[in-house]
Amino acid sequence: MYKVLVTDKVHEEGLNILKRNGFEVVVDLDAYRPEVLKERIKGFDVLIVRSRTKVRREVIEAADRLKVIARAGSGLDNIDLEAAREKGIKVVNAPDALKNAVAELVIAMMIVVARKAMYSYRALLEGKWEKVMGTEIAGKKLAVIGFGRIGREVTKKARELGMDVIAYDVIDMSDVAEELGAKFTKDLIEAIRDADFVTLHVPLTPETRNLINKDVIEKMKDGVIIINAARGEVMDYKALLEALESGKVGGAALDVYPEEPPQSEYLLKLIRHPNVFATAHIGAQTKEAQRRTSIEIAHRILQALGI
Ligand code: NAD
Repeated sequence: MYKVLVTDKVHEEGLNILKRNGFEVVVDLDAYRPEVLKERIKGFDVLIVRSRTKVRREVIEAADRLKVIARAGSGLDNIDLEAAREKGIKVVNAPDALKNAVAELVIAMMIVVARKAMYSYRALLEGKWEKVMGTEIAGKKLAVIGFGRIGREVTKKARELGMDVIAYDVIDMSDVAEELGAKFTKDLIEAIRDADFVTLHVPLTPETRNLINKDVIEKMKDGVIIINAARGEVMDYKALLEALESGKVGGAALDVYPEEPPQSEYLLKLIRHPNVFATAHIGAQTKEAQRRTSIEIAHRILQALGI
């Protein structure tokens, strides 16, 4: 019988699929810390995590019968893929299940920042009636940085709302862009140069760390609005804070941070900036996405084990 350890909150529907297939499923939400996981992982064939659990090399090396690591979500940057490969452990994820949830949040964030709605809300909480002046998103230019599943979903929705979209990716996807009525470029600066909105959808890799840095921000249009629901580390948040303070960047919406929860002074300053709307990594936090993700992950685990 296969034994499954679950260390983050995962929807029960997917876990029930595994149980119906004869798996023993142990949910241990305290085991997410590496020093604990290193001990608890022993005896388990499958490990299911979301983004909170960091599956580092020492955990993978301590495992004695692990066959599959399943990430109930899409980004794999919390898993040491190299260490897993060396031990022949398969890594599976559920990349399609949550793209709509993230894309919907991104669209909402663009509108909130464009209308300065977070500013009006904060003022109301302080008893002030502030009739702030915003802009519309229809007819504006959106640069989608990373034209994968989420980037394409955002493009689809943005086009329906009347935005002009230019997509940037390292892989040529001009055909897909054309189908969605968007332009495509393999040149980052060309993508961001005239954009009113820039939204980030690249995975965190050594190449994308600090992809949106001070130099890139300087080349953006004055007053640009930037959305980051990818990973905090793909953007230099110190440079973003400076650009917000100078007015170069008109507004930003952030769902992800280089430390979660954010505690450093500059991150707290960023979150509290009047032109910033910030959420706590809730991109995939919808009932629908979590349910779909757990089901997709269950099927991928069965497939990986040849069942
Ligand atoms: P995906 O793999 O489908 O797409 C990523 C795209 O980025 C690919 O097309 C790839 O070619 C491109 N890319 C990779 N390196 C690049 C580079 N250096 N420059 C330009 N493009 C590059 O992934 P996805 O499902 O669209 O998800 C994207 C990311 O969103 C995930 O990796 C994850 O970090 C993040 N995410 C966040 C949340 C959230 O809750 N906020 C939820 C899900 C995913």
